[in-house]
Amino acid sequence: MNEITCKLLVIGAGPGGYTCAIRAGQLGIDTIIVEAEKPGGTCLNVGCIPSKALIHAAAEYETVAQAADRNSVLGISTAKPSLDFAKTIAWKDNIGRRLNGGVAGLLRRAGVRLVAGYARFRDGKTVEVETQSGPQMIRAETVVIATGSEPVALPFLPFGARVISSTEALALTEIPKKLVVVGGGYIGLELGTAFAKLGAAVTVVEAAPRILPQYDGDLSDPVARRLRALGVSVLTGAKAKALVADGTALEIETAGGERKTLDVDKILVTVGRRPATSGFGLELLDLDMDAPFIRIDDKCRTSMRGISAIGDVTGDPMLAHRAMAQGEMVAEIVAGHRRAWDRISIPAICFTDPEIVTVGLSPSEAGQTGFDIKTDLFPFKANGRALTLDREDGFIRTVARADNHVLLGIQGVGAGIAELSAAFSLALEMGARLEDIAGTIHAHPTQSEGFHEAALKSLGHAIHI
Ligand code: FAD
Repeated sequence: MNEITCKLLVIGAGPGGYTCAIRAGQLGIDTIIVEAEKPGGTCLNVGCIPSKALIHAAAEYETVAQAADRNSVLGISTAKPSLDFAKTIAWKDNIGRRLNGGVAGLLRRAGVRLVAGYARFRDGKTVEVETQSGPQMIRAETVVIATGSEPVALPFLPFGARVISSTEALALTEIPKKLVVVGGGYIGLELGTAFAKLGAAVTVVEAAPRILPQYDGDLSDPVARRLRALGVSVLTGAKAKALVADGTALEIETAGGERKTLDVDKILVTVGRRPATSGFGLELLDLDMDAPFIRIDDKCRTSMRGISAIGDVTGDPMLAHRAMAQGEMVAEIVAGHRRAWDRISIPAICFTDPEIVTVGLSPSEAGQTGFDIKTDLFPFKANGRALTLDREDGFIRTVARADNHVLLGIQGVGAGIAELSAAFSLALEMGARLEDIAGTIHAHPTQSEGFHEAALKSLGHAIHI
């Protein structure tokens, strides 16, 4: 069998793997990356990017549809819009293709060899790849596992026919008339909101007492209100139970214990993702696990010398930017740099409507650190820019130590505030205190003034509230 060697072998070209390989290539490390599907992984092909494209298209459509429906307060009226969904999907797919090509080009430019095929471990230094031209053996000094994650199915609702995961939801060729979303976490709500805006009758079935249970109620309430305004039916404390025999309805148990059936064209199951750890010979390696994830240390090393792991396969938060930061760090470690995971925070954004941004500790998490804390929020209803956008729902909240005012966390919920995450992250990584935010001029009129005002309020002298 054909055998090639390299210093660094990366398995999986998602955001973690390709970032690792590109950085390694920049550092002059002889690197091979193996990818079974398309460069860019879940994020670029069936995750972050296509979902945000769909969310954007849906928001644009809904804005026009609203003007047609109700004579918008902005004085705009228009005829009822029509939607060529095939064109929307073609536009979304084209973004994916451009980015696939972009990642492949960046790998080439960094001198990284991309091997297309499915990799299987033979031992800790060797993998066999099924390529189109036959099996290929690759031997490496260091191997990085970056195989990502896959959607979790419910045992009584296996994927197939009307039951779909986020992957199929992003490839639908027509909008389902009746869509039931099982699981009210960020992926289900992002996609459910988009389909509701595109005209589907959407029902969300969530077992927890409220949607987005990973966030506190103050953050999730504006999203729940907006879902109601969009006509989405949100059933909390409710459990999906079974598919009705011919597959056209879903049986659920409501919060009150009542059995009910919901007619469906599609059931989108978004109850979580699990690490991709099977099917590629991982069992041969006997790595320590942090069930169900691969256990890593602060340098992303596994329990076996010469094998590292990054990205979704290593645990929560399963986010592309965490995978990328780990990938970059591992490449630098392989190049001999002194690096360890020292990030204060990993921002998380929920691209619902309104968007939620969280960085660092929530008030309740901060309360458990043993420090006395100060937390204050500034509502967008007192923010000029939010009013000019006709979106005054939401707020920005700061969480700081009471003694020295060092920020421990920043959260916000508001229309289009995802981009504020950079300011929030920077503040935490720089060790900013409330006074640093208060002493920074924030441009007017912007939603970022809400951050300034939340800090001022915590210091006892907010101006605009
Ligand atoms: P992945 O991106 O999963 O890539 C792993 C790659 O490895 C895949 O391409 C796979 O084909 C390949 N592979 C696996 N096994 C093998 C093998 N044996 N041989 C060869 N190749 C193999 N994250 C965000 O940060 N922001 C968002 O807005 C966001 N939105 C999302 C929306 C949706 C609908 C979904 C599903 C996910 C979203 N995510 C988002 C999560 C994000 O996609 C993941 O956190 C990220 O892709 C993880 O990167 P990764 O490199 O660990 O793995």
